[in-house]
Amino acid sequence: MEYRQLGQTGEKVSVVGMGCWGIGLSKNRGDWAGEVASLRRGVELGMNLIDTAERYSSGRSEELVGEAIRDCRDDVFVATKVAPPNLRHDAVIKACKDSIRRLGVSCVDLYQIHWPDPAVPIKETMSAMERLVQDGLVRYIGVSNFSVSETDDARAALAKNEIASNQVEYALTNRSVEADILPYCVREKITLIAYSPLAHGRLARSIPNYILQKYNMTPAQAMLNWVTRDEQVVAIPKSGNIKHQEENASSIAVRFSPRDYEKMP
Ligand code: NAP
Repeated sequence: MEYRQLGQTGEKVSVVGMGCWGIGLSKNRGDWAGEVASLRRGVELGMNLIDTAERYSSGRSEELVGEAIRDCRDDVFVATKVAPPNLRHDAVIKACKDSIRRLGVSCVDLYQIHWPDPAVPIKETMSAMERLVQDGLVRYIGVSNFSVSETDDARAALAKNEIASNQVEYALTNRSVEADILPYCVREKITLIAYSPLAHGRLARSIPNYILQKYNMTPAQAMLNWVTRDEQVVAIPKSGNIKHQEENASSIAVRFSPRDYEKMP
């Protein structure tokens, strides 16, 4: 596994991490155990970045992550998110404490604002985020689905901390962030966490065969390799399936040549 610095924090996170949307959704014990095993396998393979959210599966995703990392907490970097309508000061504090309880950890490594909410002053949300850092409940602050100007406002609202990351949708089949958010993140040394990097499982069909053969990759692997070609990007594919998790973990074992990256459709 390859690791990259998260924002300006000095922390190293895996270039391919694990997303947890939809994890823990099924009440079926077999699915639950399979998803726990898939996350554990990912950690074994060096995928230390695990991304979840209070919203995912109504909190059960965080509970499942908590179970998966119980014996390897120190090997993982846990990212979760606070969602609107919890962006008022006291609601942020409560949401974070609830996430910490569900995750079974003493602090969250990266706490992200899931979506901006124009109805709540960003300064109020950020003062709660900084309080959580000061109290040792959160290590680093991130945002998600923030435009460039919203990220600027979020940074200006912080007194003592930096924004470490912006989590946005980015995949071979959806490159809209390349217009402004990606160049901004590169310039400002903010990590772009690429979500839905496998297009929710609708894998690209147009990847040239010669690339798949040359690098001995599946389309999913080629998509992850491509999306993480820039130093400032890490990706968080979701998989509840051990075979897929292994495939994703080995997707960046070799890098395409710059010319082959350009040939990706
Ligand atoms: P994704 O990672 O693009 O795709 C997940 C789908 O791809 C699943 O159906 C999975 O099925 C399948 N898959 C995974 N590995 C595969 C492989 N090697 N070969 C074939 N299929 C494979 O979609 P996502 O869950 O939307 O996004 C990933 C993560 O990003 C989420 O889990 C979440 O953490 C984050 N996210 C954040 C936001 C936000 O607003 N911040 C929004 C959406 C997502 P199996 O489970 O069967 O492998």
